[in-house]
Parts: sequence; structure tokens; C-alpha cells
Amino acid sequence: MNHALVVATQNRGKLAELRALLANLGVEVLSTQDVTKTAIFVVEDGTTFEENAKKKAQTVAGVTQMLTLADDSGLEVDLLRGAPGVHSARFAGEGATDAENNAALLNALNALNAFDPVSECDLAEARSQKSYPARFRCVLALVDPFLNDGAPIVVEGVCEGAITHVPRGSGGFGYDPLFIVGGTDQTMAELDSEAKNRVSHRARAFDKLRLVLEKILAERDVVARAVDGP
Ligand code: IMP
Repeated sequence: MNHALVVATQNRGKLAELRALLANLGVEVLSTQDVTKTAIFVVEDGTTFEENAKKKAQTVAGVTQMLTLADDSGLEVDLLRGAPGVHSARFAGEGATDAENNAALLNALNALNAFDPVSECDLAEARSQKSYPARFRCVLALVDPFLNDGAPIVVEGVCEGAITHVPRGSGGFGYDPLFIVGGTDQTMAELDSEAKNRVSHRARAFDKLRLVLEKILAERDVVARAVDGP
């Protein structure tokens, strides 16, 4: 039985990765543009990834009345005290490109000095290694408008690593060329899409959602069969 799920994002990189993660679940994956001609704008004014993910999923599910998955994610750099964080998509300003955000990130790291309230020792170490401890974090929110009054199911995944000064690789999107995946010497952008989808923050969050989603789809099958009859 084929059910449909809307991915509440305008970000093509996220959509492609979520599509790959959702493959084999027997669900048709649609973008918001596929299901509604009117653009749905969600102001991402939450102070946490969770707030923004819930808001996006609830807004889009409210308009479409469809099973909806939203992703709010970003990069947290320790020496920048967790920035860019929820501002990752617009670190260089509203509407910034990935290249502009990457440049803003490197500028922020270069501008750090001993007067910033970070450990001088950690800063010296990061500078000498040309490697700044960081992580990608992803929160996924799933809303079934017909389950539990549309209360979102929320999961989180993290991928630890470090920021390097010289971008490498052409895969992925966003900060991938600057992010060295923990325990490897490759940037996220040097991984092919299958490899990224094995280690990424998004994949780790999705692992926690897979069973719940399978259960929701199985229950929808039962209802659809009962309505359609034998
Ligand atoms: P959001 O659309 O508000 O969740 O912002 C997501 C932003 O975080 C993206 O525009 C990227 O800058 C960054 N980001 C999230 N996930 C990734 C990823 O997998 N690779 C690289 N950058 C990411």
C-alpha cells in the first residue's frame, strides 16, 4: 500500500538526503511544492532546533493535512560557543549562500582572540592543529495530523567532527566542505551520498524515527484495507 509523506523543507540538499533515507519504506516522498501551489512560509524564530523543527512540521501538516517530516539542523562550533547553531542557514545574513556562510564561519574563527571568553589553551590548540571541534546536529519532527491530535514526534542525531580551514570535496551541501567527520580525515563533502547517509547527524536522527514511521505506515495500511474492503 503506498502512502505519501511531505518533507517540509525548501533545502534541496536536505530533501535529497531525506528521500534516500526514506527509500524502501513504501512511502511516496513529496516536497511542499508537490502538494500545494501556495508557498508556505515558516518563520524560523525558535531558539532551539527542536522548536523550529516542530514549527515547520506542524505548519506544513496543518496546511496539507498530510503526514509531514521536518528537519531543523545546523553546525555548532565549540570555540564559537555553539554558533552558528540555529542561525546556520543565515550566518552570513538572510538569504546567504552556502559559500557566503562558509566564508563567514572562517572569518569568525580567524577573528577569535585571547580576549574572547574562550579558553586560550583550546584556541591555541585549535589554531596549531587547524582543526576546531564542532558537531552537526539534526532534529527531525514527524507530524501525523490524525494521530494524537497532531502532536509532533521528535528525534535528534549528532555527528561529531571538526572545522578545517581549507574546504575539500564537492558532495553534500552547506558546511560539508569544511567539516571533518570525527574519526576520519575526510570532510563530509568528500563522502559520496551513501557514505554521508551512513554517518550524518540526519541519518542518526532518522535511525531513531524509522520504527515509529514504519508503525504509522502499517496502521494506515490497516485503516485503508478496512475502508477499501476485501
Ligand atoms: P535550517 O534549514 O534552518 O535547518 O538550516 C540548516 C542549515 O544548517 C543549512 O543551510 C546548512 O548551512 C546547515 N546544515 C544542516 N545540515 C547540514 C549538512 O548535512 N551539511 C552541511 N550543512 C548543514
